Amino acid sequence: MAAIDRITENHILIVDHDRVTGASLRGLLAAEGYAVTLCEAGSEALAQARCVSPDLVLLDVFLPGMDGYEVCRAFRGDPALAETPIVLLTALGDRDSWIKGLEMGADDFLSKPVDRVALLARVRAITRLNRFRRLRAEPERPQQSEQQLRARLHDLELLNSQILRTAHALEETVSTRTSELAAERDRIRAILEALGEAAFVTDTRGLVQYANPAAADLTGYEREELVGVHLNRWHPDRRVEQVFDRLAQDPGSPLKDLWWEGELVGRRKDGSYFDAMLTIAPLPAPLQPDRAIGFVGVQRDITPLKEAERMKHRFASNVSHELRTPLSVITLLSGNLDALGERLSPEKRSAMIKDIRRHAQVLDELITDVLEMSSIDSGRLSPELQILDLAPLLRDEMQRLAPLAERRQQQLTAGGDASLMVRADGRQLRRVVRNLINNAVKYSPEGGHIDCRWQRLDLHPDPAPDQRWPGVERLAPGPWAAMSVTDDGIGIDAADQERIFERFYRVNSQSNIPGTGLGLAITRELVQLQSGRVALASTPGKGSVFAVYLPVCLPVLA
Ligand code: ADP
Repeated sequence: MAAIDRITENHILIVDHDRVTGASLRGLLAAEGYAVTLCEAGSEALAQARCVSPDLVLLDVFLPGMDGYEVCRAFRGDPALAETPIVLLTALGDRDSWIKGLEMGADDFLSKPVDRVALLARVRAITRLNRFRRLRAEPERPQQSEQQLRARLHDLELLNSQILRTAHALEETVSTRTSELAAERDRIRAILEALGEAAFVTDTRGLVQYANPAAADLTGYEREELVGVHLNRWHPDRRVEQVFDRLAQDPGSPLKDLWWEGELVGRRKDGSYFDAMLTIAPLPAPLQPDRAIGFVGVQRDITPLKEAERMKHRFASNVSHELRTPLSVITLLSGNLDALGERLSPEKRSAMIKDIRRHAQVLDELITDVLEMSSIDSGRLSPELQILDLAPLLRDEMQRLAPLAERRQQQLTAGGDASLMVRADGRQLRRVVRNLINNAVKYSPEGGHIDCRWQRLDLHPDPAPDQRWPGVERLAPGPWAAMSVTDDGIGIDAADQERIFERFYRVNSQSNIPGTGLGLAITRELVQLQSGRVALASTPGKGSVFAVYLPVCLPVLA
């Protein structure tokens, strides 16, 4: 049976004087896997047939020289070719040709122009029958009477129309089903394309066959670069490889054992890393739902979530560390005071009490920071806006903070417009200034110089960048009350500059300097609450400028 089913073994000889028809028939049949020989004349056809023993001859009636009937008779008269099935190609509805053809030994007819579906159905049926016949070495065909021939012709016509009907019905079913499948495929593709999460389809080994645009965005590869590569290119994780290994070792693995979901770290094309939540699910075969033919994967970028978690942990450990240090100093000093009591000189005692106070102050500031942040979060910190002069406020704050700088032998200078009216919350502004000066002191070496400036800026549209006033080019045109704190400290590199206003963010290399990573976040929130802006310019190793811009309070004209 296998030998009969192998289409490639079927050889068809086309005999047609019309080259265009011949070539089109040949193309059609060759596309279906038949071996095809094309001849233009009867004598040539007979010679070829002796060489290739065709399984079927498609024979045009109108041939130059020997016509189709004569060729047919010659086939039947040659013992080597007598059994070869012959289908005559005749003009449409030419019954006389059909009868004559049957008399000459033809097996069937097709009208020209040839119907593609009818031809393929006929060819398939006849070549199959011929294979059977060859295998069974059928005895010689007896002579047929005219009545028998007419009866056979009638049967053939019936068979012909039946085949045509079935073939058309089949073709319709196939085309409906094909368009349904195509619509379904397009729908799924459209969903995957629009999906915000990265999705891909792999074969059973994990080689990517499809990746959606979000997968390209997440991994930094072009979509074409992803196709054909293994998933471990951007998920170098043993747990992922094990899913594919499991299927490779046991192709009959139950589908439920081929699911995997977990958090892992992915690597982008540029070598940077991202946190992902990945789900891998087996794709069942369409007709064998128990068997996997590949995998579909969906991955979500959870980097911001993980980063927030990491920050929370960093913050918790920072806060507890920051709390513990002053607390232990306070505990130690107060214990000493208690134990040594009268034995301490009054100077020593007062120095210890001062230290206790100072550390209590640090504790107080830390708790204030955390509480302030949580007030901002809950929206409880609405500013009490009033018209005030920024110049005396800043001068006053500088005086208060001078001892802080003196302790580190730093020079603190200040200066600006004699008066600068703003509409702001004075308490919150003092907090902002304290944060900036505190940082300048903390992140500058001993003996450094810190300068605080303030002035009114009247901005035109598209102002040029100004080193003294970072970020002015992003401000709306008009009058602004500007204030800056400049230091010649350690500076901040570009990548960190983008992030230092985030809550809990601290530059790693400065982890030995105490802090909670909340000061600048609070500063920005407070300034924004007063419709202001914060900006910064910094050069690592040289120093930083932090600037605050507040809307100027214009004098009311009577
Ligand atoms: P903290 O100082 O408590 O860590 P901040 O929010 O005030 O938190 O500052 C965030 C980070 O920004 C600091 O950890 C520090 O690395 C950096 N930074 C802030 N101000 C300066 C400055 N003037 N010079 C250099 N680095 C600074």
